[in-house]
Amino acid sequence: MAPERFHSVSLLEDRCRGCTNCIKRCPTEAIRVREGKARINADRCIDCGECIKTCDNHAKVAVTDSIERLKDFKATIALPAPSLYGQFDQHGMDDVKSIYRNVMGALMALGFDAVYDVAYAADIASLITRIHIESGVTEKPCISSACPAVVRLIQVRFPSLISHLLPVDPPIQIAGKLAKKTYASKFGIDVRDIGAFL
Ligand code: SF4
Ligand code: SF4
Repeated sequence: MAPERFHSVSLLEDRCRGCTNCIKRCPTEAIRVREGKARINADRCIDCGECIKTCDNHAKVAVTDSIERLKDFKATIALPAPSLYGQFDQHGMDDVKSIYRNVMGALMALGFDAVYDVAYAADIASLITRIHIESGVTEKPCISSACPAVVRLIQVRFPSLISHLLPVDPPIQIAGKLAKKTYASKFGIDVRDIGAFL
């Protein structure tokens, strides 16, 4: 039996009015109204988050860990994505540097032991992607595997395109592995005792 997939979107039933707006926007027809509530079919959901944006009643929500989860690990690493920095106004290099410093400082103040930028892993993913394209192994035109929702969309709705997907881990996965490995060897700690949080 295939392992149950983790999903990052869930339904708050008491807020759902069964209006069907989210159904119309779901790219994989993963939502069905049953007993007046818009339930998600886990086998078809690609975690694109479109239904979260669509629902005016805020009945579809992103699944997140609470800050208390940090206590479950001996060490924790924050993995800020470029989109986190992009939410602050930037008018030149000085702003960029100060936003970077402030975000880093805020994450450490929250209780993380280290911060590892996903952007570094994105550079590595780009390099591996280029090598794969040049090797000619993957069927052309090649499709990037950087976005997990796109990969899942192809698996669920367009399986004939699977052979066009580049076999490269997404940046977030590369970042998590590298961050844990680096921290583990620096501080002599088992990687299984380290929690990495996006
Ligand atoms: S989740 Fe929101 S958009 Fe979807 S049916 Fe319920 S209330 Fe409507
Ligand atoms: S996250 Fe995307 S695929 Fe999943 S139920 Fe919502 S709209 Fe559909």
